Amino acid sequence: MRKKRFKLIACFMVFGIITLGTNIPTFAYNFSGPRWQSSTIRYYYENWNSARAQSYIRIGGNGWNSTDVNFIQGTASNYNVYCSEVMNPSVDWTGITNSSYNATTMLFVSQTIQLNASKTSTWNNNGALQSVAIHEFGHSLGLAEYPNAAVIMNPYTSGTNSRYGTYGITTIQSDDRNCANARY
Ligand SMILES: [Zn+2]
Repeated sequence: MRKKRFKLIACFMVFGIITLGTNIPTFAYNFSGPRWQSSTIRYYYENWNSARAQSYIRIGGNGWNSTDVNFIQGTASNYNVYCSEVMNPSVDWTGITNSSYNATTMLFVSQTIQLNASKTSTWNNNGALQSVAIHEFGHSLGLAEYPNAAVIMNPYTSGTNSRYGTYGITTIQSDDRNCANARY
C-alpha cells in the first residue's frame, strides 16, 4: 500500500538587522528525507509563464548540474517537477516547493515549485531571484533548509544571516554540492 504524505517547505523573506561575524559551520547541510529514484530529474513549465520565470526556472535546475544530479527539461507528459510562476502577495515566501513521497520507499512521487512574482524586491533582482530558484531546486532533489550559513540551502533570501542579503550566495557551495552528491 502506498502512503502519500505531504511536505511543505516555504522560503520566507524576512527583513532584519544584518549581523556580521557569525561563525559559519564547515559542514552545512541536511537531508529532508525523501529523494528521487533517479538522479536524472525532469522539470516542466508551461508557455504561459513569463519569459523571466521560464529563464529562472531553467537557471534553478541548471544550478545543480555540476553535481551528480542532472535536472533536464521534461515534457507535458513526462516530468517529475511542475514549475510555475504565481502572483501571491498574501504569503511571505518568494519560492516554495511542495512534494509528495512514498513513506515506505522514501522516494518522491510528485513535486511542484512555485516562484512568487508578487515579491518584487526579490523578483526584480537578478541575483536574489537566481538564489531563490536554485534554492528551490535544492529542495526538489531532497535537501533541507540549513539556516545561518553561506550555503544555497540557507532558507532566508534577505535579513539577518541570510543567503543572499548577508552572504551574497547565488550559486551552490561546496556543502550544497556534497549534500547532493551524498544523496544520489
Ligand atoms: Zn527553502
